[in-house]
Amino acid sequence: MRVFFSVLFLLTSLYSTAQQQDLTTSLYETYETYKEPLLEKRRIKHKDIQPLIEKCKTNPKFKVAKVGTSIEGRSLSLISIGEGETDVFLWSQMHGDEPTATQAIFDIFNFLNSDDFSSEKQEILANCTLHFLPMLNPDGAEVFQRRNLLGIDINRDALRLQSPEGQTLKRVRDSLDADFGFNLHDQSTYYNAERTEKPATISYLAPAYNYEKEINEKRGNAMKVIVFMNNIIQKYAPGQVGRYNDDFEPRAFGDNIQKWGTSTILIESGGYHNDVEKQEIRKLNYVSILSAIYTIAKENYKDIAISEYDKIPENDRKLFDLKIENATYPLSGKDYILDIGMNRLEVDKKGHNNFWYSSRILDQGDLSTYYGYETLDATGHAIVQGKVYPKLLSSIEALGSLDIRALLKSGYAYVRVENIPTTKLASPFPIHMIGKRYEVPDFSIEVGLNPTFLLKKDGVFTHAVINGFLIDLNSDKKTNFKNAMIYR
Ligand SMILES: [Zn+2]
Repeated sequence: MRVFFSVLFLLTSLYSTAQQQDLTTSLYETYETYKEPLLEKRRIKHKDIQPLIEKCKTNPKFKVAKVGTSIEGRSLSLISIGEGETDVFLWSQMHGDEPTATQAIFDIFNFLNSDDFSSEKQEILANCTLHFLPMLNPDGAEVFQRRNLLGIDINRDALRLQSPEGQTLKRVRDSLDADFGFNLHDQSTYYNAERTEKPATISYLAPAYNYEKEINEKRGNAMKVIVFMNNIIQKYAPGQVGRYNDDFEPRAFGDNIQKWGTSTILIESGGYHNDVEKQEIRKLNYVSILSAIYTIAKENYKDIAISEYDKIPENDRKLFDLKIENATYPLSGKDYILDIGMNRLEVDKKGHNNFWYSSRILDQGDLSTYYGYETLDATGHAIVQGKVYPKLLSSIEALGSLDIRALLKSGYAYVRVENIPTTKLASPFPIHMIGKRYEVPDFSIEVGLNPTFLLKKDGVFTHAVINGFLIDLNSDKKTNFKNAMIYR
């Protein structure tokens, strides 16, 4: 008899694992059907999500309540769905420039509102009630900054509660006394999974609730759900998951919400190759969060061993956008071998709807413990200063009609242009534009400078680095070049 029940149990559990995998695969494959088309870029604002929240208000499936107001007067809304006993609370973007999960939440609404996946949805909504608070920091989102209008990090305001946004989060958490909490953020794209070149596309943490980092049932459940989600991400972005250090931060919301009795899961969306607007990462949020909700509804996360949590590699911060290795750098008549790590920093345009790049050298020397999204082994290549093209051009159009690749191949990195409109912020060509009287500073490779130089081997220019973008001068392959600089 016992054997029979064990076999039955094993079969049931195998069956539900298979069911779960089927759901995850289908969610991934059908994603485009539910992707909210109005939110396609990271710079989204309060006014962009209001029409979508209004749509939920007129839909009897959802309950929408205004639960607070930001300092600048923007409404904070809680959108709920389901009749189940298990309360799941998800909040996003308490840091204004971290919008990836906000986008995924609206994709999840489209999914929940559709007629598809009816048996899985029935399972979810009969067992759980889901509560979403998207864009907790709309004032920060307005200017695409981390902090709120008071200039504080809301995630250090869980105890003092000076921000109305933090007060709202605390009040909603307490009124729901939710079983599970999803604390949804973005992290720097320069995080990697420890000792690998793989970006930490998603990082997780089941925050500690005391300095001793004890694990009670609530925190243990959060760890189990994280192990479950990690297995999903591994399928679509192998090796690209990191685990945050769990040092207790007494002022943070995640740590306190865990302490207040909600199993809290921190999800950080990081970087992914060639995904500047983080749309693939948004999709991974959608798939993994919905799958996690399903496993919470079915309670089969309970079978997962907590020890699996510690096997997720730790987060590290060892990535550059571009890393050049082993280049030869001549200085005061002697040659030195240098690795150079460069990042492309985003500068917002007016209105904070778009951006351009101003790049910097972040580090140089032996960078053998670091990695690059793009890496070039420049062994045997000399670093050479880019020259100023001797002819003064009348306009940007005149520059556009030149063969810029030929200029780079001749060792030029700057072109003098007579009339550069003041509205122009950056050069659309892979060569810097300089004003009539601008003097290019003395050349050096130095932390903090804009990475601009050429690489030369056997008397031939092979590569140009312009504003941190690598251009292979012997290949016509399309590059990820976005813009060079303008120096007036
Ligand atoms: Zn954050």
